[in-house]
Amino acid sequence: FGHLATLPSSLHGSAGGKVPLGLRRRALRVLVTGGAGFVGSHLVDRLVERGDSVIVVDNFFTGRKDNVAHHLANPRFEVIRHDVVEPILLEVDQIYHLACPASPVHYKYNPIKTIKTNVVGTLNMLGLAKRIGARFLLTSTSEVYGDPLQHPQVETYWGNVNPIGVRSCYDEGKRTAETLTMDYHRGADLEVRIARIFNTYGPRMCIDDGRVVSNFVAQALRKEPLTVYGDGKQTRSFQYVSDLVAGLMSLMEGEHIGPFNLGNPGEFTMLELAKVVQETIDPNARIEFRPNTADDPHKRKPDISRAKELLGWEPKVPLRDGLPLMVTDFRKRIFGDQEA
Ligand code: NAD
Ligand code: UDP
Ligand code: UDP
Repeated sequence: FGHLATLPSSLHGSAGGKVPLGLRRRALRVLVTGGAGFVGSHLVDRLVERGDSVIVVDNFFTGRKDNVAHHLANPRFEVIRHDVVEPILLEVDQIYHLACPASPVHYKYNPIKTIKTNVVGTLNMLGLAKRIGARFLLTSTSEVYGDPLQHPQVETYWGNVNPIGVRSCYDEGKRTAETLTMDYHRGADLEVRIARIFNTYGPRMCIDDGRVVSNFVAQALRKEPLTVYGDGKQTRSFQYVSDLVAGLMSLMEGEHIGPFNLGNPGEFTMLELAKVVQETIDPNARIEFRPNTADDPHKRKPDISRAKELLGWEPKVPLRDGLPLMVTDFRKRIFGDQEA
C-alpha cells in the first residue's frame, strides 16, 4: 500500500474536526468486478463515499452503466468493459470479486459461460491478486449449501448439492471458486476473504431478472398476478442490500478469512412474501401458482452467529422496511418519473 497519498479527512466523512495525521485512513485503490451490477454498484457508492479510488470491471451481461453513471465525472472512479474470463493487468490494493450473474434465470441462460466465469474468472482475479499482493474477497453464495439438510445453515455445513443439475454451473461453480480462493491463500499466501451471501434485494435489481422479490414487486406494480412457484411453502431469508454492503466491507477490513454467512435470518415462505408485497403495494394483487423449477432448495436461512461475533455485523433492515425502498425505485423505472 506504500505509494498512496493520505487523503484529507473531509473525504472520509469525518465530522469536520481535525483528525490527527496518524489516525487518518489511507485511501485505497479498490477493484470491484461486477461493479455495474445490483450489489456491486451499491458497494461502489460506499467505497467512493469513503474516499477510495474505485475501478469497476464489468462485461455488462446483467449490469448497467446507469447503475454507476453518477460516478463517471469523478476522477477517482473508472469503469472498464472487460470479461473476467480473460486475464487483465491492473494495480490495486483490494479486489472485491462479484462478477457473476446471480439470478437463476440469468445464470441458466448460458451455463457454460456461468461456470467459466466462476472458475476461470475467479482464477484470473486470484492470479491478479497474487501478482500485485492485493487482498481478495470472493462473493460466494448460500447456494453452496444446495438443498440443505441442516437448518438454519451454519458455515461448517458442507451442503447437499447436485453436481450435474441445472443449477450446478452456479452452485458448483461457486464451490470451486471457494476452493480456488483457499488454495491461493494456502499455496500462494494470498490474503483472502469469503462471504456466503443469502438472497438480497433492493433498488437497482434488474426488473425482469426472474428472482422472486423483483418478480413480485414488478408484477404488483403492473397489476399482474404474483407468480408463486410450486406450493409456495418453500422458504428464503431476504436481506436488504445496504446490510450486505456493510457486511462485505467489515469482512474485507477485518482479520478473518471466513467463510461468513451474510444474510438476514428473517425467514419467509413465498406465500408470506407475496402477502408482504400485497400489503406494501396492492392488497388486491392476485396470486397465480406455477410449476416449480428443478432442484429448488426447500428451505434457506442463515445462522449468522459467526459474523455477529467476529465481524461485529448484523443486518438492520427488516423486509417490511426494505421493501418500500425498492418499490420506490421500481415504480420510477417502470412508469417513469411523472407517475413515481
Ligand atoms: P448482478 O447480476 O446484478 O451483478 C453481477 C455483475 O457481474 C453484473 O454487472 C454483470 O454484468 C457482471 N458480470 C457477469 N459475468 C461477468 C464476466 N464474465 N465478466 C465481467 N463481469 C461480469 O448480481 P448481484 O445480485 O449484484 O450479485 C453480485 C454477486 O453476489 C454475484 O457474484 C452473486 O453470485 C453474489 N450473490 C448475490 C446474491 C443476491 O441475492 N443478490 C446472493 C448470493 C450471491
Ligand atoms: N492473471 C491475470 N492478471 C494478472 C496475473 C495473472 O489475469 O495480473 C491471470 C493469468 O492469466 C492466469 C491466472 O491469472 O491465467 C492465474 O495466474 P497465476 O499466476 O496464479 O497462474 P499461472 O499464470 O502461473 O498459471
Ligand atoms: N419463485 C417464485 N416466484 C417467482 C420467482 C421465484 O415463487 O416469480 C420462488 C422460487 O421457486 C424459489 C424462491 O422463489 O423457491 C426464490 O427464488 P429466486 O430465484 O429469487 O432465488 P434462489 O433463492 O432460488 O436463488
